[in-house]
Amino acid sequence: MPQTPPKFVILDRDGVVNLDSDQFIKSPDEWIPIDGSLEAIAALNQAGYRVVIASNQSGIGRGLFEMSTLNAMHEKMYTALARLGGRIEAVFFCPHTAADGCDCRKPKSGMLEQISERFGIELRGVPIVGDSLRDLEAGVAVGCTPHLVRSGKGLKTLDKGGLPPGTQVHDDLRAFARWLTGNDGGNDVGKDSATRESAQ
Ligand SMILES: [Mg+2]
Ligand SMILES: [Zn+2]
Repeated sequence: MPQTPPKFVILDRDGVVNLDSDQFIKSPDEWIPIDGSLEAIAALNQAGYRVVIASNQSGIGRGLFEMSTLNAMHEKMYTALARLGGRIEAVFFCPHTAADGCDCRKPKSGMLEQISERFGIELRGVPIVGDSLRDLEAGVAVGCTPHLVRSGKGLKTLDKGGLPPGTQVHDDLRAFARWLTGNDGGNDVGKDSATRESAQ
């Protein structure tokens, strides 16, 4: 019997939790949650899942904003989430640019390895939710199950194709949370399957 994966969910941030922008999210004011995403995190928590974020933030490496600003954005997120009774365990972020050649920038899996170490968990079977191919690639490299959302860059990602085998597609984080916690009566499972998607 395969071991039951730990009750963790790993999320990308921009385009999954908050609205994305090609101009980067550079300030707390620009950090705006996607409708229902914070409620989704709270619902995951209630179902016993611990939620961790792994986010590329090359805006830091590009000098677009400071680490203190990133912290302020996350304070805004934590505060809004706390009002809903939700909680994010930690935000892991990569401050580097592609030119830095680091091990943490997705699609590299360094941040996920950090999560594994920090929490002392095996990531095999842990869902990773992203709107870009690189989120899913980073996850699959360490055994996570890939989930694409159509929010953020998700529709573009879906158009480009080449998703890892077994990728499941959901409208947004709310739909993913409903699917994972089984509150949807099973309807989303068929609707959201990547197989169905590619057959359309
Ligand atoms: Mg993203
Ligand atoms: Zn990095």
